[in-house]
Amino acid sequence: MKIGILGNGQLGQMLASSVTDLSDLEIALYDLRAHEEGKLNAFIKGVDIVSYETENIPANIVAQLESHEAQYEKSKVFPSLKALKIFQNRLLEKNALRAAGIDTADFCAVNSLADVHTAIETLGLPIVMKTTTEGYDGKGQFVLRSPEDAEPAWNTIGNRELIAEAFVPFLRETSVIASRDRDGNINVWPMTENVHHEGILRYSLYPAAGLSAEKAQIAERYIRDLANSLDYVGTITLELFETEQGLVANEVAPRVHNSGHWSIEGAEASQFRNHMLALSGKALGNTDSKYPAVAMLNVIGEEDSSIKADSLSNAYRHSYGKEARPARKLGHITVVADSVEERDLTIDALVDVMPAGVWPPKN
Ligand code: AMP
Repeated sequence: MKIGILGNGQLGQMLASSVTDLSDLEIALYDLRAHEEGKLNAFIKGVDIVSYETENIPANIVAQLESHEAQYEKSKVFPSLKALKIFQNRLLEKNALRAAGIDTADFCAVNSLADVHTAIETLGLPIVMKTTTEGYDGKGQFVLRSPEDAEPAWNTIGNRELIAEAFVPFLRETSVIASRDRDGNINVWPMTENVHHEGILRYSLYPAAGLSAEKAQIAERYIRDLANSLDYVGTITLELFETEQGLVANEVAPRVHNSGHWSIEGAEASQFRNHMLALSGKALGNTDSKYPAVAMLNVIGEEDSSIKADSLSNAYRHSYGKEARPARKLGHITVVADSVEERDLTIDALVDVMPAGVWPPKN
């Protein structure tokens, strides 16, 4: 079986390398940056299944995939184009979350400066305003703290469709990741605590310290209900704010996610492998952690000091082979440990890969 992945970045590469031992699966990556209609047509025709490493797929390419499916009257794209289109748009995404019974911040659509003022009246301040499409890593966002922020916010990110969300006073950020196979079986990885800096994920920790069994169960119910509600096939990620009151969904990624990279060495089956197994109709692997404690540290930016991970027996360095550039994800390190103390001591030894002050977590 041949599986084609749209996108040849690190996620596509890690998807491909997760199943190299399965000789009946052949993986091909499509470079979205060198897209040409004819090239994509040939690519789609040459594979049995099409998947993608990113939801940021331009509308013309989505349309081409749709017309291919209509022509052959057979679904070839997993996760489905319906799911992709929902999670490309923050308004559709929030509505899908609500429809699946998942708690989100209150929100409303914003299409004009007048709508910004209405949002302030209905949601109260502060508000996080975001572009409905294409924003990631905190790009295309504006936090409004006073009514005077309305105009600058609209002028900075407006003149296109926006979503206004009530600001969630969260204790910390977490995520839950699951894979759902073609028969509807779902395996869920344990949650991680995710620490961001300047809008970018810096590290993920398993276990999330002090996470109650009750909250973990709710997160698992959320992701199961969401995946089932869309008859989803593949790996799906739900980012959740943890608040005093409970868990509030922020964002969904219809794909493997940076906060799940720990699963390559840390879990019995990785998020990448289970995605490929789900698409190809094979049984999903076990998502349990292999170790009492695991961490994933992102290596980001101009200076890559991750080489020191090579001298640590419980750290695994992944390099994406990219040229260093500010805010660019160059690789990651997985730390595995027999205890949280051992894990945290290892992170202490690797602290230079991260910006000053982000480790340890503040909560
Ligand atoms: P996003 O692109 O939606 O993941 O947002 C990027 C970051 O902005 C999140 O990781 C949060 O730290 C923050 N953020 C987004 N939405 C909200 C919200 N409604 N309330 C508080 N913080 C938010």
